[in-house]
Amino acid sequence: MQLDENQKNKVLLYLNTNAPTIKCPVCGHAQWGLSDRIFETREFVGGGLELGGNSSIMPFIVITCTYCAHSLLFNAIQMGILTQSPAKPDESKSNGVKSPEPSNG
Ligand SMILES: [Zn+2]
Repeated sequence: MQLDENQKNKVLLYLNTNAPTIKCPVCGHAQWGLSDRIFETREFVGGGLELGGNSSIMPFIVITCTYCAHSLLFNAIQMGILTQSPAKPDESKSNGVKSPEPSNG
């Protein structure tokens, strides 16, 4: 998923505030490239590919060291870029229980 301008600004603000002097843990350089997309990792469930159901997906912002190519992942939800997982299962119809309707009096 491509970041819009507002999300790009949030990413830059977050990184400048929370990780302003971050150095690459592999090579020690401090020059990073920022992808303009959100990536996701899927829970390993063994065997085959499971989408939805009980598997979970985590969205990440990726920055890559411009010297050695080592990459770091930042949780896009914790950063405030996304409000929830994009692949969150629809829980509204999970148990068939309806919310109480407001009374009229
Ligand atoms: Zn590096």
